[in-house]
Amino acid sequence: MGLKFAVLGGSQAYDLLKSGDINGERLGEIKTPYGDSQPVFQLGAEYGNAVFMSRHGEKGYSTTAPFVNYRANIYALKEQGVSRIISWSGPGAINPEYRIGQFVVTDDIIDETRRRETTFYKNRGVGFVRQSPVFCPTLRELAKSSLNSLSLDFLDKGTYVCTEGPRLETPAEIKKFAIYGADLVGMTLVPEVFLAKELEMCYASICYVTNYAEGIVDRPFKPGELFEGLADDEDRENVRKAVFNFPQILKKIANEAAGNNEPCVCQSLMARHKNRGDIGADWHDWVSHG
Ligand SMILES: [Zn+2]
Repeated sequence: MGLKFAVLGGSQAYDLLKSGDINGERLGEIKTPYGDSQPVFQLGAEYGNAVFMSRHGEKGYSTTAPFVNYRANIYALKEQGVSRIISWSGPGAINPEYRIGQFVVTDDIIDETRRRETTFYKNRGVGFVRQSPVFCPTLRELAKSSLNSLSLDFLDKGTYVCTEGPRLETPAEIKKFAIYGADLVGMTLVPEVFLAKELEMCYASICYVTNYAEGIVDRPFKPGELFEGLADDEDRENVRKAVFNFPQILKKIANEAAGNNEPCVCQSLMARHKNRGDIGADWHDWVSHG
């Protein structure tokens, strides 16, 4: 049995669990110093040694991106013995060459969030973690080889800009992010990736492109439709097909992960602080409680 991994997904992935397309048992919320996490689900043996967590809760988007308790969720996964996290999310495309429904194994990030708790190390004198590579190189390879062996359409890199939300971006903001070099825009990877690293967990992201960001393609405003017309019927069908692949991608990654227990750079991200005696062996004592 390989290292335990977790899938952090959105409401579309959770729907697959709810409908029984993915077999999982609800273990419930985990108490943490930051409050209760979202509930954890133990996935069936066909998914290896894996748990699932829906970052937005169990009722659609009952917890929207700016209000997710990211610290509680990541702390809870660490408490469950998870050492590798695969994030599954559906951002918009800024890069006009991206296709709706295409998968992207992101390789860099721009943080444009404003009001989120982004560290476990408030006033602890530790936590100056280098951010290159941002995403775990081992898990990224695993994700890429899994998508490749399933013959799915994917890009092996892409820069993700994370906005605060829940509102979508203005056309001028998207122009700015394009100048920054961003390919994708979403609201969820920050601070997840940074928090995971602070607790020496591997974290990689598989995105599926959900829509084009504002101003990338010409879409009239349509009240009552998804994103007020930013996504059309064809986009929605392509997204549906991408999400439909989630269970088989998950199985593939689980199988590949089972045979790959090599130690990764992420598991020693706090080594400098340990060597200096700033922190001890038990990660529970590293973090600030509040
Ligand atoms: Zn790693």
